[in-house]
Amino acid sequence: MAKRAKKRRGPKPKYLDISCPNPKCKHHGQKGFANVVSNGTYRTRSTGKARLFLCRTCGKAFSSRSGTAFFDLRTPKKKVLMGLKLLAEGLGLRGTSRVLETKLDTARRWLAVAALHCEQVSDILLRDLKLSQVQVDELWIFVKKNTKIPMDR
Ligand SMILES: [Zn+2]
Repeated sequence: MAKRAKKRRGPKPKYLDISCPNPKCKHHGQKGFANVVSNGTYRTRSTGKARLFLCRTCGKAFSSRSGTAFFDLRTPKKKVLMGLKLLAEGLGLRGTSRVLETKLDTARRWLAVAALHCEQVSDILLRDLKLSQVQVDELWIFVKKNTKIPMDR
């Protein structure tokens, strides 16, 4: 266990050593503006926990592993995609987690991770899972409602 692994709980910590990856942001690539706050964590297969961050300057969410594929979750890719498909078909978080025998929190995390990679996920849903554009649009509306991650769409 690394020394820094244990962090006290309390008011949202600010991450002065992390800069915003959004090129359009006025604080893009600049550290020390206290604009980056924690937005939770999710688990990945290779490295364990990855952090989610939020830039308060531009409102964009990003991950500590930004740029890596969203598939690097503990849950197999197929299951995450199936979950997103069920959600797009209007099953809801509770129904989806029941069908896939997963925890409600896990299903909710899929939404958060999907939101961070929405273009990549849209492509796969449309192309590989043959969802309609309407279904994909509805999924994003659902994601927006159920996560705090701001998105372009
Ligand atoms: Zn920003």
